[in-house]
Amino acid sequence: MSKGWRGTAEARRFLPDIRVAPPGPRARAIVSRDHRVVSHASARAYPLVVERGEGPSVWDVDGNRYLDFTAGVAVNALGHAHPEIVRVVAQQARNFLHMAGPDFYYDVMVDFAEKLCSIAPGRSPKMAFLTNSGTESVEAAIKLARFATGRPFLIAFYGGFHGRSLGSLSLTASKAVQRRHFGPLVAGVSHAPFGDVEFIEKYLFRKTAPPEDVAAIFVEAIQGEGGYHVAPKGFLPDLRALCDRHGILLVADEIQSGLGRTGKWWAVDHWGVVPDILCVSKPAGGGLPLGAMISRADLQTWGPGAHSNTFGGNPIACAAGLRTLEIILEDGLMENARRVGAHLRQRLRELSSRHPCMGPPRGLGLMQAVDIVRPRDGRPDPERRSRVVRAAFERGLLLLGCGEAAIRFLPPLTIERGHVDAAVEVLGKALRGSGS
Ligand code: PLP
Repeated sequence: MSKGWRGTAEARRFLPDIRVAPPGPRARAIVSRDHRVVSHASARAYPLVVERGEGPSVWDVDGNRYLDFTAGVAVNALGHAHPEIVRVVAQQARNFLHMAGPDFYYDVMVDFAEKLCSIAPGRSPKMAFLTNSGTESVEAAIKLARFATGRPFLIAFYGGFHGRSLGSLSLTASKAVQRRHFGPLVAGVSHAPFGDVEFIEKYLFRKTAPPEDVAAIFVEAIQGEGGYHVAPKGFLPDLRALCDRHGILLVADEIQSGLGRTGKWWAVDHWGVVPDILCVSKPAGGGLPLGAMISRADLQTWGPGAHSNTFGGNPIACAAGLRTLEIILEDGLMENARRVGAHLRQRLRELSSRHPCMGPPRGLGLMQAVDIVRPRDGRPDPERRSRVVRAAFERGLLLLGCGEAAIRFLPPLTIERGHVDAAVEVLGKALRGSGS
């Protein structure tokens, strides 16, 4: 496909192949039924109707093949239908599907929690509360932070996204539409500009949130939904030191950035910062709903009944998640994320030098984004961003927006250089098709 790529026939099998202009007739029929019965509260990026997936690709119901640079929003770390994950899911399903882990015991949940605690940053012993989603992991972190410190206030950052339940939404400050008409939210939450520790000390601590009343500061090392903004140099270590000075817990939300995507297990590892609480989800269940709130064991002073759920630590999700973590290590996928991520960045940089409407890439590993801007003044251009994402879809490349006018690239950690070359080639055509 792309010049110079000598990918194997096997890898070429996954490249974009559009046979019917999407959405084709079968896709259109499903979308119109969907619109009648599925809530409109979620914003669908474009009318992709998936029939099956394999590796880095998905096929739609009209027989078109797409390269998936969304990984199901950072979930499918191993790509689609990884044979090992399919195998362990089937095996666990034959044993039992559900037995309410928070009420009883089973070994695969312990295996998964042990593995997760062993890779969480820091040397002190850890404990995990297992959840079904990112939002639920953040919600558990809010409750534990208040419980363990006995303090009421929380701090988060503008541009941050932590979920949509009322507690996690109180921390989220990414887009107004996410909060509109939902107030009042949880009391005691203040926000600071991302990267600005001085603001916290100068304004929040002195005027609205006395430090001795602050339970926790929530931060994403790379703001995800907010636009793939990487923490500026020194910010996370300074935040750690600030928390230490005032007995405040540092909560790292690694729901999008964690589990190998940036080339290390955790994005905070790039700064050597150890949080007190870590929120995890997305790829944790190997494609099934699973998450965790992991903390230092000594913080879990809460007792039986303080917090729980029905589905947390579902056995199939734990089996798939455990095998996913093993494969990330066995197959050197963090190294792949670093290597192929660097290649993606280089190719995006080249493309941006040829297209004045596209800014330079930013991010770490396989968590990269570019801004789409107005060439005449460099201001964000959300409409053109949507047109580019749509044009890429019509040419067989699945992308997602983030932030005001950015496009993010978050392919599976198994992605190869040739897939990146093919994706960049399609993106170039989509940029030209959008009027650049
Ligand atoms: N935190 C971060 C950083 C996220 O990216 C997301 C989802 O995108 C969430 C929390 C919420 O996770 P979920 O959608 O699984 O509830």
